[in-house]
Amino acid sequence: MLSSRGYEFTDDEELAEAAVVNTCCFINDAKEESVNTILELAERKKAGQLKALLVTGCLAQRYREEIQKEIPEVDEILGTTAIDKIAAALDQALAGQNGTFFDSIDNIPVGDRKRVLTTGGQFGYLKIAEGCNKCCTYCIIPKVRGHYRSVPMEQLIAEAGKLAEAGVRELILVAQETTLYGTDLYGSKKLPELLHSLCRINGFEWIRILYCYPEEITEELIQTIKTEPKICHYLDMPIQSGSDEILRKMGRKTNQTEIRTLVKHLRAEIPDICIRTTLITGFPGETTADQSQTMQMVKDLRFDRLGVFTYSAEEDTPAADMPEQISERLKKTRRTRIMKLQQEIAFETAEDMIGRTVRAVIEGRITDKDPEDDGDTYVGRTYKDAPDIDGYVFIGGVNHELISGDFVNVKITGSHDYDLIGELE
Ligand code: SF4
Repeated sequence: MLSSRGYEFTDDEELAEAAVVNTCCFINDAKEESVNTILELAERKKAGQLKALLVTGCLAQRYREEIQKEIPEVDEILGTTAIDKIAAALDQALAGQNGTFFDSIDNIPVGDRKRVLTTGGQFGYLKIAEGCNKCCTYCIIPKVRGHYRSVPMEQLIAEAGKLAEAGVRELILVAQETTLYGTDLYGSKKLPELLHSLCRINGFEWIRILYCYPEEITEELIQTIKTEPKICHYLDMPIQSGSDEILRKMGRKTNQTEIRTLVKHLRAEIPDICIRTTLITGFPGETTADQSQTMQMVKDLRFDRLGVFTYSAEEDTPAADMPEQISERLKKTRRTRIMKLQQEIAFETAEDMIGRTVRAVIEGRITDKDPEDDGDTYVGRTYKDAPDIDGYVFIGGVNHELISGDFVNVKITGSHDYDLIGELE
């Protein structure tokens, strides 16, 4: 939208005349990062180095008044469903006016969804739905993003086609929850159907699905992942806890037995599947016994990828008012314990890859290499590595030029912590 209006993009704040901060408010750390970024840019605005400062995203949706009051350097604030007003807002700010743009939380922003790729080109995100209908008691997202609204399938296929034409080789499906795709528009889960259609588009080598809710993963989806060659054998499936009591308090709809059964079934159907999950430590009322159950689950299920967050009490969520809130210190200790356990598993899993040949996408060349090295070293990702989230594979001794987005076969020769080392085959 900004590009169609003639604005040019830069990620160098020194060169920018205007800045748009797209914020997050999911957990406290994200809020802090958002506020610090706004404050840094507000300083530039005060010093006359920036003409306009806009704030959008979830923090803007939730704390509009606070931002207006505390950071007067912000010219315009846009809510999560008013993003189609971004060009009007920027025009207005550059003309020296202030304002806010908010719409109903369940609004579906209009717009032709033309894309400017900001991910570097070899991968691109496709947002298939907005909002969430679940009621996880710790989560503010339904309040800032509204009810679940799927993007019509034909619109997604057209958008994905344009991404493929623009050179995207890896398409990554995102939403607050991808597995429910289609239920609002078509009356049933349509993620498998969408995936089949996306797989028919020329140009994509990989299609990756993020943010699956365990309970909503169907047999049809599993078989689609198994049988469509372009779909990465990678499943991002947050489980949050291994204790039934905590899962109940969290308002999650799965329990320990179901999670264990699902992971076993996934591995039986797709033996090389890479399962990523996330956990929260220190949810209100979490006892040592609950923590032990989560640790046991991590030990037993040996997730390939695991992120652990400390519980963040978010205003206006039921969990924030629950009794038995846990101290920050204990939350962190529990997080460290799980991370240590997972580290051993992750290093062993990486070692298990030695001797295997895997497909990898090139991200770039390592420039500060040792002059004694024979050939160049490139960095890439395997199907087990989502960009900016997981690890890398370092490919040494390359004697011809590779470019970002090339797909190569790599024989894994070693591992270093979470990363792999290999050579071209
Ligand atoms: S499913 Fe995810 S986005 Fe929805 S309420 Fe739960 S944690 Fe939040």
